[in-house]
Amino acid sequence: MLISGKLNKIRTFALLLIFVGVGVMYIGFLWKSLMALFFILGMLFVLASVAIYFWIGILSTHSIRVHCPACGKVTKVLGKKDECMYCKAILSLDPKDAPNQTKENT
Ligand SMILES: [Zn+2]
Repeated sequence: MLISGKLNKIRTFALLLIFVGVGVMYIGFLWKSLMALFFILGMLFVLASVAIYFWIGILSTHSIRVHCPACGKVTKVLGKKDECMYCKAILSLDPKDAPNQTKENT
């Protein structure tokens, strides 16, 4: 579930970035002479992650809520095409991809 859907992918990336940032800061503790350098580097990773989280928040409010036809849950679609956050079914808002009967987006 962590890597399904664009929003979740970005979120997972931001989470990894926090771990990397903390990891880099820990290296600073082991390498006393370069501690300040690693600390700043680690802080940059964490700040970048916070910025990404903020960006996700904005994206999330702009994304469209859709009932997934495959699993019936409400998921968010970012852009024209995205995966369902729950079952990874590919959802599209492009009318070209719509089957001839009903549209999936409401
Ligand atoms: Zn689904």
